[in-house]
Amino acid sequence: MVVQLRDDLQSLQVIVPGLYPSWRKNQLEVIEQVHDSLKQHIAIQAPTGFGKSASAAGSLIAAGDRGIILTLTKQLGDQYYRDFFPIGLKTVKGRGNFQCALVREKTADVAPCVAGMKCSFKRGGCDYYDQKREAVESSLVSMNIKYFLYEANYGGEFTGIKSLFIDEAHKLEDSVKDFIEVRFSKARFREEGQPLPTVLTFESLSAWVDNTIGTIEAELEQVLMELEEDPHNDILTIRGIRLSAAKNALDKFELVDSTWVIDEDDYAIILKPVWVGKYLDQVLYRHAEKTIFMSATLPRSVLESLNIIDYDYINLPSSFDSKSRPVIWVPAANLARSAKNPMLELRKLTSAIDAAADKFSDKKGIIHTVNYRISEYILENSRHKDRIVTHKNAQEREQVLNLFKKSDKPLILVSPSFTDGIDLPYDECRWQCIAKIPYDNLGDKQVKARANADPQWYATSAIVTLIQAYGRIMRADDDHGVTYIFDSSLMYLINNWRVIFDQVSWFLDALLILQNNTLVPFNEFIVSPQFSNSRK
Ligand code: SF4
Repeated sequence: MVVQLRDDLQSLQVIVPGLYPSWRKNQLEVIEQVHDSLKQHIAIQAPTGFGKSASAAGSLIAAGDRGIILTLTKQLGDQYYRDFFPIGLKTVKGRGNFQCALVREKTADVAPCVAGMKCSFKRGGCDYYDQKREAVESSLVSMNIKYFLYEANYGGEFTGIKSLFIDEAHKLEDSVKDFIEVRFSKARFREEGQPLPTVLTFESLSAWVDNTIGTIEAELEQVLMELEEDPHNDILTIRGIRLSAAKNALDKFELVDSTWVIDEDDYAIILKPVWVGKYLDQVLYRHAEKTIFMSATLPRSVLESLNIIDYDYINLPSSFDSKSRPVIWVPAANLARSAKNPMLELRKLTSAIDAAADKFSDKKGIIHTVNYRISEYILENSRHKDRIVTHKNAQEREQVLNLFKKSDKPLILVSPSFTDGIDLPYDECRWQCIAKIPYDNLGDKQVKARANADPQWYATSAIVTLIQAYGRIMRADDDHGVTYIFDSSLMYLINNWRVIFDQVSWFLDALLILQNNTLVPFNEFIVSPQFSNSRK
């Protein structure tokens, strides 16, 4: 079995010689373990440098059956396509990338079939469906998880998969949460003469759904009949697409029960489950014989929240020398809500960041701030403001990242949202500061309900985000970069949740503590009397 598997995998190296000249340490062993496992679920925690994407592609090539790699961010999806397209990886591009063959002035995302109209081009002649069919028949496919969830559960083509790899699985719960949540547009239902109830309870919404669904279905049926007669009618198409979206939301309500959180903004009523895990069998796991979860940060508490009980667990050490990736804790500021003088704490934080920036005056760095309030304060008060690039919202994010990556000036990228999903190797970034432990926002009702019910979940989420941020700047064996953590509560978090930190021990291996102007390794710091005092 092993010899045959290894022979099969040679093709990957031959075809992608520049990228993958040879297998890295542990990769073949992991592929074999995945191949031989009899469990439905396999979790691989592998720090950066292991080469998760090559292992996933290699596993699928070796298996030769229907296999899909799910990615949770666009950057990672693009990377898979770039790296493995030469060896036949297929991907499914979204509808917006294709022209409709029936109504040629439209793209496929606003075509009549989106409303539910039957179209003969679906079986051949529609570019969107043609590329999708190719992917359905392939053994090596990657796609975005949101697309997969939608297609597997409503389209039906991407079910019956042999092996489903989920990369960045530490974020899986978030992606599935977005798919499961039910969003009722206020304007849409008002336009249809079915306004949402003013008193929002599970019971009032259940009664409203029961009263509304028949009307929406009848309207949609009528529109589809008219659309088949007149597919070029723009008004009918738009109305059909809106009614179809309304019907989907109403259908999804069957998952909702009285434990769900009911939220509201200016545009919609949003219903969210407190926990997502119990729905994962239904919306995800049932579509594959074997599901493989991969991430650099996949402690067992993450797997618990994904409702995985019986699984094989492969936990790999970091292949990077801890001296090349030091993480230095300087307890400079208390940024907790309970801090007595928040402005003073922000001043102390900015001084610490400025001191780090002084040390790296000719190198690019990134500051992870957790929120825009801290970003703004640093931008206004740092001595290095002329080096800072930042963004005010999610839309500017990509643009600022590109500018930062391409620049050869010693810029400092200040942002609350680059803890995950980006690579800043080598001179793209040599140092970074984590201003605050990245706890989830307790202002969100769903987060609050979860944190109250399960403090371990709340801590796990912060630890995973913290360690993901740590991994942004050190991307290869010959790379190096320094990380500073300035939040004074780090040691409290480690003490309380040591069981989680021990599962990502490569983080603790690199942790140094600034004490009396000396950097003390974490393992030595634990036994020192100063440490005992600092806990009180
Ligand atoms: S299936 Fe038909 S209506 Fe839909 S995008 Fe393709 S050609 Fe257009």
